[in-house]
Amino acid sequence: MDKKVKVVPCSGIGKVYGLMAREAVLKTVFELCPEKSETVCLAYIVTGDKEVKVKIEGFDCITVDGCPKMCASKNVSIAGGIVVEEMKVLDTVKEHKGKKFGSPTQLNADSEAVMSEIAEKIAKKINEIN
Ligand code: SF4
Repeated sequence: MDKKVKVVPCSGIGKVYGLMAREAVLKTVFELCPEKSETVCLAYIVTGDKEVKVKIEGFDCITVDGCPKMCASKNVSIAGGIVVEEMKVLDTVKEHKGKKFGSPTQLNADSEAVMSEIAEKIAKKINEIN
């Protein structure tokens, strides 16, 4: 059985916080926890792709959302994934008041640092699950 934790970011196109969500997930699954986690494309989840549904239905998932609309969390739940942690980029951003976070297409030094912090939080949760 595939025991890798599924880590799903929102699409967040057009928002720097969405970009931070995606980058944090990629850093986690490819650099920090490649053996224990993998990511799944949210668009496939939303459109009901059968292969993706099999991957997440009944499995532990961590979602990472760029705004309060919580698109990743809602859609993973609808598809049958077990959302064991709902990460919100804004929760970490709030701890860094006064910083500028770059643009929807490019992280700057501040958003890179916060993105890395979020990735560390995701990795910590994955290690707890495992
Ligand atoms: S959670 Fe917010 S930023 Fe992310 S895809 Fe949905 S609307 Fe966009």
